[in-house]
Amino acid sequence: MQKTVSFTRNSVNVFFHILTRCNLRCRHCYINPGQHGQADLDTDTVVDWLSLFHQSAKKSNLILLGGEPTLHPGLPEIVKAARRIGYDSVTIDTNGYLFNDILDKVRPAEVDYFSFSLDGATPETNDRIRGAGCYARCTEGIRKAIAGGFAVSVIYTVSSENAHELPLMPPLLKGLGVRRFFIQVIGIRGRSAEVESHLAEKPLQLTKTRWESLVPPVARQAADAGIATIYPKVFLAPGETFECAGNVADNYFIFPNGRVYRCPLCEDYPLHAMTIVSDRLVRTGKINEADLFTLSIPEGCVINKLVQGGNIEYGENGEPRYQIACCLLKEEVSP
Ligand code: SF4
Ligand code: SF4
Repeated sequence: MQKTVSFTRNSVNVFFHILTRCNLRCRHCYINPGQHGQADLDTDTVVDWLSLFHQSAKKSNLILLGGEPTLHPGLPEIVKAARRIGYDSVTIDTNGYLFNDILDKVRPAEVDYFSFSLDGATPETNDRIRGAGCYARCTEGIRKAIAGGFAVSVIYTVSSENAHELPLMPPLLKGLGVRRFFIQVIGIRGRSAEVESHLAEKPLQLTKTRWESLVPPVARQAADAGIATIYPKVFLAPGETFECAGNVADNYFIFPNGRVYRCPLCEDYPLHAMTIVSDRLVRTGKINEADLFTLSIPEGCVINKLVQGGNIEYGENGEPRYQIACCLLKEEVSP
């Protein structure tokens, strides 16, 4: 079954980057230490900040990420604190190296998902993007997590550098025992913006035609293999209504320097809507991302047009041929 997952006012999604440090240096890494900070947050601060975002009246979902969050020695304590505070779900995003024996220090009842990043179905493609030996370590990590009783999802960030291997993912994931598959679109920010500026003719993002002929069929193939698959809508069909999550949904992207964004596409710029100052959440002054959420343009998402407008095609009359959806609008295909 396929459905568009529209934004809900009944949940809050907290994407908490507890550090920006990482053992890898992936080609498309969106972390920008100049904008996001370089220090690891200490455990007490993470726990204090978690309380700022939990809402007891809503389903509160926490995604812990980095950098590589398992490099943080306080991660097990952070997970347990999140449960005590009342977060309904806790996910740990990881590159698969699983530092600090994390699987031995948290329980499957405490972590809803370990979410592993793989950007190729083969070591050749994955390791070209993520670094030598990464495919082997990541798939080993997936096997260990599943053997330890944890639910596992995989995130595949599609670009022109790995799109050809996306169809190989469903059988790979089925063989590994993965239950959930996130197909992501590469954002032109952080290191991707640098990489793309050096590519002469081959943009990293797929055209509408290629995206639509590739991604939905692979998602159905994965669902047929028993794996729930989620991918961003990216391109709105005629008649579909554009909506900005920044206006209607509760999503927070938190960084170690205290910046809190509502829109991930803004993260390369000091456009964050809020800042955490002395453990209090403070709204930032004008102009910030929230001022842009209210603008209406024929292309759909304003910030997409500003930061990665290469994915928009225009007709001879100068009008866009389609609208770009909010990057947080997802399609979900269930088994
Ligand atoms: S994409 Fe993730 S794993 Fe890769 S360098 Fe960035 S933070 Fe590390
Ligand atoms: S991606 Fe665009 S539509 Fe979505 S929250 Fe950001 S500005 Fe709004």
